[in-house]
Amino acid sequence: MDDATKVFTQISAFLEYLGPECAATIANVTPQGELDHSPKFPFLCSRHYADLIRKATEPEALLREILPHIAERENVAGFVDDPVGDLPAGKADCVIQKYDRRALIVSTATCGARCRFCFRKNYPFQNIPDVARQVGDWLDTHSDIWEVILSGGDPLMLGPGEFRDLVEAIAMHGSVTTLRIHTRLPVMRPDVAMQHFELLRELPARFECVLVSHVDHPDELDEESQMVFGQLKYSGWTLLNQSVLLKGINDSAETLEKLSRKLFTQGVLPYYLHQLDHANGVAHFEVSDENARALIEEIRKRLPGYLVPKLVREIAGEKSKTPV
Ligand SMILES: *Cc1c(COP(=O)(O)O)cnc(C)c1O
Ligand code: SF4
Repeated sequence: MDDATKVFTQISAFLEYLGPECAATIANVTPQGELDHSPKFPFLCSRHYADLIRKATEPEALLREILPHIAERENVAGFVDDPVGDLPAGKADCVIQKYDRRALIVSTATCGARCRFCFRKNYPFQNIPDVARQVGDWLDTHSDIWEVILSGGDPLMLGPGEFRDLVEAIAMHGSVTTLRIHTRLPVMRPDVAMQHFELLRELPARFECVLVSHVDHPDELDEESQMVFGQLKYSGWTLLNQSVLLKGINDSAETLEKLSRKLFTQGVLPYYLHQLDHANGVAHFEVSDENARALIEEIRKRLPGYLVPKLVREIAGEKSKTPV
């Protein structure tokens, strides 16, 4: 099956696939006239995610993550194109270093989805044809870096050859002891994540390996994500998850509790719960700090400490994420 049959780029085809059973839910999430048919940040949804929506207990939540809403067009004071200061922190075209001795690589501009609340939705992404060489060259002159984070876009969207080249270029630098991957593919494109398994299995022999998935809602986890996480864990990866706190999606103690517990059954520990980055076009997803703190207090009462994520916000210019 080729890629074209695995992703929807047309909202109409996506809605048709969801079928009449979902019509009422869709009307509830985006009433007539509120759907943005030609958003600036184009629609993209995998068939896998559409299948998750079809079997979800809270399909509204998943639909809100993916369906373009006209509210994205609103200009809201304080919401900007580069909310987390990525552009001033860019060291080489694809390297972003904000924190001491750790660097983040924008491995590719391509993602497995286009989440409507994406903090990089206005980022001037460009695919870098020779990301492996650029990262290798940069690391040559930065021998203090001990952790390299592959982010993006989604690093697992690189072709197997490009992904291997990138990892090899990093492995040439003995100073790098930890390799971290930030990915949403276990829930968006588990099929694509699995294509990298041969290499992912080998990596723990060369680095401490950490995978930080991005899962926002328990309905995003199913037997396919379980398969991906299970294989990684068996190969020696440490598995963590980050979520974004999102109005109408996961801003209830029930949902957050369920998410933590379901992640844990799949071998993943909650790491961060992010307060929304103020990118243009995401203001309608915002949860106030007061409500966010109350939610964390509530789930702290319901869960063991190791299942309570750290509530943080990214502030441009700070030397770490900031606790809320
Ligand atoms: C978030 C981020 C990291 C990772 O931070 P941790 O607190 O270690 O998860 C690293 N580099 C950049 C540029 C980041 O934005
Ligand atoms: S997976 Fe992450 S980078 Fe990609 S669209 Fe979603 S939020 Fe943005």
